[in-house]
Amino acid sequence: KLDFHPSGRHFLQIPGPSPVPDRILRAMSLPTIDHRGPEFGALGRDLLTKIKRVFKTESPVIIYPASGTGAWEAALINTLSPGDRVLMFETGHFATLWQKMARRLSLEPEFLGLPGVEGWRHGVQADMIEARLKEDTHHELKAVCVVHNETSTGVTSDIAAVRRAIDAAGHPALLIVDTISGLASADYRHDEWGVDVTVSGSQKGLMLPPGISFNALSDKAIAASAKAQLPKSFWAWDEILEANKNGYWPYTPSTNLLYGLNEALDMLEEEGLENVLARHQRWAAGVRCAVEAWGLEIQCQDPSVYSPVLTGVVMPEGIDADEVRKIIYERFDLSLGMGLGKVKGTMFRIGHLGDCNDLTLIATLGGCEAGMKLAGVPLKGSGVTAALDYFAAHPMHRAG
Ligand code: PLP
Repeated sequence: KLDFHPSGRHFLQIPGPSPVPDRILRAMSLPTIDHRGPEFGALGRDLLTKIKRVFKTESPVIIYPASGTGAWEAALINTLSPGDRVLMFETGHFATLWQKMARRLSLEPEFLGLPGVEGWRHGVQADMIEARLKEDTHHELKAVCVVHNETSTGVTSDIAAVRRAIDAAGHPALLIVDTISGLASADYRHDEWGVDVTVSGSQKGLMLPPGISFNALSDKAIAASAKAQLPKSFWAWDEILEANKNGYWPYTPSTNLLYGLNEALDMLEEEGLENVLARHQRWAAGVRCAVEAWGLEIQCQDPSVYSPVLTGVVMPEGIDADEVRKIIYERFDLSLGMGLGKVKGTMFRIGHLGDCNDLTLIATLGGCEAGMKLAGVPLKGSGVTAALDYFAAHPMHRAG
């Protein structure tokens, strides 16, 4: 509980849900309309066209009234059959949860990864995937499933490298990618990277509340769905694709969240997606300068895959990261991400995504710095000053 009566805005700096801009909140507050009427059809057609540009795809994108977990399940059950083997890669907590889901759905996941917590400090190792696929000469593995931006660690994997690994092995497995926390914050290219199903969610880079999620498809994925035998009804792509042709859904969609999505897509287009991505890279670099100035370790140990969305800050031995987060919350009304699964208590996560700016991030780093001092974390220097200097020396330029 907060130590004082809060004023101003709460600092929601977890790596999703991210702060929802006023413009989106206003759009969502409009009256709900008839989801079978002409006004809705026009909205649906417009949305379903615009959303493709964010995934960088020409193929259909399905929108579910569900959190990201629903879209995870949809991706698996639309393309696979009971007992199918799937190759998954342990990058962190979310990759682990997806693997557990695959098992519950009666698939047979093989969980590749680096040993211990090493895998939680690096991205997907495409060479390990290639080696495993080359061994699979009878093509028993039906899909390769990887997490693009592992939200539990702050590591963004190289999906193009995974595609090359599958091609180098000459393997027909589907490539299914979770970019629930990467979309509209980290570079993502569904078509160019040859992804068959991309899973995403609303409450991260799209700056919406939780509650809608996505499957971007490929022709190969749609063909696989015609043969896939896992039971599905609500999640089945065929009826949704049919209704979507006219901008409708086979059931009642989340009308007001779709108003919000429409507004979010307009905001992203006004700024330009490439500008949005550059803004996230720049914030992430500033936050890393702060962590370095504090003399602390970043959870991600491979600079080539630092996440532009969040940064995991490792606490020195003997310090409980959850205790530090608690102090920061109670004293400064600032929420940070907790360490999940194997890294519980050893690190916390700073989200720097969506509707932020340099000064909200400086304030966030200020809360972290003051809270860590109160918690007795030995700091080498001021991360706030380091980040301010970085932002001042690297002005944002409008491109395009
Ligand atoms: N995958 C990743 C990478 C996530 O970050 C999350 C949520 O944070 C999920 C899956 C699960 O999504 P949801 O909590 O929206 O069901």
